[in-house]
Amino acid sequence: MINWEAHACLPLHPQADFSPLDRLREAGVNYVSINVGMDMNPVSQIISVLAAFRANIAAQPERFMLAGSVADIKQAAAAGVLAISFDLEGALPLQEQPDMLALYRDLGVRQIHFAYNRNNSIADGCHDVERGLTPLGLRMVQAVNQAGLLMDCSHTGRRCSLDIMAASAKPVIFSHANPLALAEHGRNITDEQIKACAATGGVVCVSGVSAFLGTRTPTADDVARHAAYVADLVGVQHAGVGLDISFRQDELNDNPPGDYDPTYWWPKAAGYNRSVERMTYTPVETWQLLSNALQKVGMSTAEAAGVMGDNMLRVAGQAWQRHPF
Ligand SMILES: [Zn+2]
Repeated sequence: MINWEAHACLPLHPQADFSPLDRLREAGVNYVSINVGMDMNPVSQIISVLAAFRANIAAQPERFMLAGSVADIKQAAAAGVLAISFDLEGALPLQEQPDMLALYRDLGVRQIHFAYNRNNSIADGCHDVERGLTPLGLRMVQAVNQAGLLMDCSHTGRRCSLDIMAASAKPVIFSHANPLALAEHGRNITDEQIKACAATGGVVCVSGVSAFLGTRTPTADDVARHAAYVADLVGVQHAGVGLDISFRQDELNDNPPGDYDPTYWWPKAAGYNRSVERMTYTPVETWQLLSNALQKVGMSTAEAAGVMGDNMLRVAGQAWQRHPF
């Protein structure tokens, strides 16, 4: 049994402190995907962060392992260290170049979605005009499959996400997204999207963010309720957890350089009335309460273990194979 945290954020700064990750490990998490950049971050910032995060992990083998495979994750769990890989939130860091995917993979990235809330030349964001996947985007989906990364549709426009899921030869995930039927927000996903994800063999990992759960002070019970909705709709093997906890370190400014406008990326009209900084997250300790919470909503112990990680382990085992199509 592996506890799989599908998405968490440290400051996008080379001096980010890794000690919050010890809290994840102490709460029982075996694997975490850490964000290394979004569409608003220039490649120079992403490369700097990747260099520092890789060095931090390599310097502390008693705490962390840079995991590239399911076998690595199982080995890390057996040794009691936290397995880590990286994710990108948006396709702009690919610079319209499909072969950037293999490069990022070599640097430890194992998961990517194509648009951070706003449209770009590859895909649509969930808070922008609907167009659908572009021709270059279609080639990028194939490149993600070939490079052996998890194709993620969080933050992506609805129609575009359906195009991506139809195009992918491998299971597609939502690493942090919640059912729209339970909380009305443009970041949340429709039943049609959840069904399309399940049809790829993928997993919808529910987030622990207050606005997306539809609660002010989110708890393990809220996360369980959202996971149970996915399980009831498409089967428990398609539900997972990506709490999206942001470990902010106020002394580090990780804003992108230049004229960065947060209201462009998090539009007030889309429901970000208060600043993103004031969103609340489920606490790390949610992980210790989740198995019970999932059983309270009707799951067996084994089904709860599936939601907490074994489902994502299955999908990663399929998606992380490199494929010479
Ligand atoms: Zn996100």
